[in-house]
Amino acid sequence: MTFSSVLIANRGEIAVRIIRCCKELGIETVAVYSDADRLSPHVLLADKAYRIGPPPATDSYLNIEAIIEAAKRARVNAVHPGYGFLAENSMFAERVSAEGFIFIGPRAESIAMMGDKITARTLMEKAGVPIVPGTITPLQSVEEALTVAGDIGFPVLLKATGGGGGKGMRIVENADQLPSAYKSARSEAKNAFGNDSVYVEKYLMDPRHIEIQVLADSHGAVVHLNERECSIQRRHQKIIEEAPSAFLTDDLRQQMGDAAIRAARSCGYVNAGTIEFLVDASGAFYFLEMNTRVQVEHPVTELITGIDIVKEQIAIAEGNPLSFSQEAIRIRGHAIECRIYAEDPLNNFLPSIGTIRNIQSSLGPGIREDRGVQAGNRITVYYDPLITKIIAYGRTRQETISKMDRALSEYNIQGVITNIPACLAVLRHPLFKKGMYNTHFMQDYFSIGITATPDENEMLATAVAASFSVHDHIRKNETPGTQTGSRSGWKSKNIPK
Ligand code: ADP
Repeated sequence: MTFSSVLIANRGEIAVRIIRCCKELGIETVAVYSDADRLSPHVLLADKAYRIGPPPATDSYLNIEAIIEAAKRARVNAVHPGYGFLAENSMFAERVSAEGFIFIGPRAESIAMMGDKITARTLMEKAGVPIVPGTITPLQSVEEALTVAGDIGFPVLLKATGGGGGKGMRIVENADQLPSAYKSARSEAKNAFGNDSVYVEKYLMDPRHIEIQVLADSHGAVVHLNERECSIQRRHQKIIEEAPSAFLTDDLRQQMGDAAIRAARSCGYVNAGTIEFLVDASGAFYFLEMNTRVQVEHPVTELITGIDIVKEQIAIAEGNPLSFSQEAIRIRGHAIECRIYAEDPLNNFLPSIGTIRNIQSSLGPGIREDRGVQAGNRITVYYDPLITKIIAYGRTRQETISKMDRALSEYNIQGVITNIPACLAVLRHPLFKKGMYNTHFMQDYFSIGITATPDENEMLATAVAASFSVHDHIRKNETPGTQTGSRSGWKSKNIPK
C-alpha cells in the first residue's frame, strides 16, 4: 500500500525530520503535541496537529490512548514513533496495529525480544553473535553474582535487564563491593524500569562503541549500511558520532556487518534497526544491544551511503522490497554528528533550563542541521534537552572535522548554556584528530577538576571561555555565576588547532 497520511508520535528534531521526509514523499503529516510544544517547529510544520495532553511525557507523548485517538481522528494510514518515548514499547506497536494502522517499525515481538537485554543476549548466543561475557539469565542472588564475577574476572558491570538510557548500570571493581552494588542496582532498576531483574557482564576496560545500521524488508532481505563510531559519550550517552569509524578495517567491518545481519534475522526483524557492539583494542567485538528504531545518529550513515533511512523505513512499512542489494551499498566520504544539548559542560553536563532567546544556525557547504526548536521555545525539565544536531560531511575525516569546527564556532544560541564548547574541545583534541579514542575519552580528558590533566582542563575551559566571548551565551543567563568566565584557572588564549 502507499501511505497518504502518517501520524508522527514524537516531538523535537526527529518529528521534524520525519515530517520533512513525508512531505518529500507527498504524504500528509499529522503531528501530536503537549501543551509545552504548542509553538514548536514540528507542530508548525505539520499539515495537522492534535493536542495530546499536558507537558509531562507520561500524560502526552507516552499517552497511548491520546495518540491512538489522534490517529483515528486524523484517519492516518500509519504511525511513525521516532526514537525515545513509545518507539520501543511493544505494547504501543501492538496497539497501533490492532487499531488498523501500520506501525512504521519492527513487529511488536521483535521489539519485546530486543527490549529485554537477557532475552537479546540469549538470542545472540544462539545466532552465533559474540556477547560480552557474563550471565544470560537474571541473577538470583548475590552469591551467584559473586561466582560469575569470580569466573569472568573483575571489574564487572551489573546491568538492569530492562535498562536503557545509560541508567541502571553499576561498575563493580572487587568482591567486597558486590553485595551493596547488587542491592542498589536492583533498587535503581526497580525505580527506573519497574523491574528489578539484573545480570552481570564483564566490564571491558577501554572499549569503543561501534554500531551497525541494518535495514530489513518484509520479504526477507536484510542489508547493513556499515558502522557508526559512537565512543564520545558522557554519562554513557553519546554526544559525537561519526561514520566510518577510524578504527575498523575492511575485514572487521565485514565481520561486524555479517554479525549484525545474523542478529537482525534472529529476531525476525523488519524495518530499520541498529546493532550496538563494544569493540576492544584487539578488534574483538561483542553484542551490546539492539535498538529497534531509527537512531539519533542516523544522519551520519545517510551522508556516507546516500540512503535516506526514514524514506526506507516508510517504503518497508508500505510493504515494498528493498530497492538495493548489499553489494550496491558504498561508503563515500566521512560524516560527523555533534548533538548540541542545553547542558553545562562545566557542571557535569547537567541540563540548562531556559528560553532560547535567539538561535543563529551556521550552515554552509557540507553542513546539515536537524533541529526541532526555534527562538522563543523553552528547554524544559519535561524532555531531553537536545537543541539541535549538526552533521558535517566531507571527503576525508580531516576535512569533516574542520567543517564541523567552523560550523560550531559560528553557531550562536542565546538563553541557555550549551555543550558546544565541549564538542569543540573534543574536535580539537590531538587524540580525537588521530581517531584514537574510546568510550572513556570524555571522562579521561574532560572531567574538569576530577581526572583530567591541568592542560586538558584548561583546554576545555578555554574553549568554553572563547565560545562565550564570541557568542555572549550567558551574559544574562538564568544561572548566574556558573559560567561567567571568571572561573579560576581560565585563560583566554586561543586553543591550538
Ligand atoms: P543503555 O541501554 O542504557 O544505553 P548500553 O548497554 O547500550 O546501555 O551501554 C551504554 C554504554 O555503556 C556503552 O556505549 C558503553 O560506553 C558502556 N558500557 C555498557 N556495557 C559495557 C561493558 N560491558 N563494558 C564497558 N562499558 C560498557
